[in-house]
Amino acid sequence: MQVLIADDDALSRRVLHDVLVDWGYQVIAAKNGNEAWNIMQQDHPPNLVILDWMMPGLDGVEICAMVRQQVKPRYTYIILLTSRNRPEDIVQGLEAGADDYIVKPFNPDELKYRLKIGERIIDLEERILGLARIDYLTGLLNRRAFMEKLEIEINRSLREGTGLGIIIADIDYFKTINDSYGHLAGDRVLQNVARCLQKSCRRYDFAGRYGGEEFILGFPGVGKNRIQSIADRVCMDISQCYTELPQHGQLISVTASLGVACLEDYPSGNPDHLISAADDALYVAKKKGRNQVVIAKPE
Ligand code: GH3
Ligand code: MG
Ligand code: MG
Repeated sequence: MQVLIADDDALSRRVLHDVLVDWGYQVIAAKNGNEAWNIMQQDHPPNLVILDWMMPGLDGVEICAMVRQQVKPRYTYIILLTSRNRPEDIVQGLEAGADDYIVKPFNPDELKYRLKIGERIIDLEERILGLARIDYLTGLLNRRAFMEKLEIEINRSLREGTGLGIIIADIDYFKTINDSYGHLAGDRVLQNVARCLQKSCRRYDFAGRYGGEEFILGFPGVGKNRIQSIADRVCMDISQCYTELPQHGQLISVTASLGVACLEDYPSGNPDHLISAADDALYVAKKKGRNQVVIAKPE
């Protein structure tokens, strides 16, 4: 894990740097508060920060207050390190937004385990953010996470001039599964179809649950010439994916209708245009009798 340290005293900075490296951290050292602040404004800054209180320019407490006013995608865990140790100093530091406070000269063991607290908080945040991106039933990306990823991949494809295809797959007559075997059996089928879709994906493809019994797949680097055969294969894979229903002593299968769209045909860069094209194609596949693939064609 990366740790940003800021201390204007070269010797303290060196000592701190060396113990942290010794404990396995990647250390980024700033010589003063302004430098630390600039590092914290870069993309993907360290989440764990140790700030000296008194520094020329921005001091540690000022930085704490400024960080807490920012809206950032990730939390910054800040430990203030200082020779000021009166209770009112501690209160001032914590009030400004520091997570913890260590008095110099620091006891290495104490610092070590206080850093561990910070690491646990950061790991916890990572886990929660991860869970917020995952569909609980199927383990695929949820709709929001899929859309975020799709936007990134569309931009990459447009930049690099590579293709990108998406497939929306809607299970056919899924309501009858629920009606005949119950909602839990329906859930098992959804989980199984999701597993099957994941198997159909290469490492850089991405799969999400778009809605109830609708799935969505993204294929970076795949253009018009290849998407048809991929979609045909996915359609067949789904139809051959059997789900065991122990309560009913039965193996059942479902089919799906697939709507497909390629970025080459819808190059606006707006993910909604691509989705809506695939969705219209899906509607046509349903109308044409289901269990088939329809590729969207621009007018
Ligand atoms: P079509 O071929 O036109 O797609 O018919 P369909 O029955 O698949 O489509 P419809 O939209 O009529 O019904 C979808 C059903 O999916 C209704 C809903 O209860 C069910 N469903 C949605 N989410 C879940 C879920 O998480 N678990 C289960 N078991 N069923 C779900
Ligand atoms: Mg549906
Ligand atoms: Mg359906």
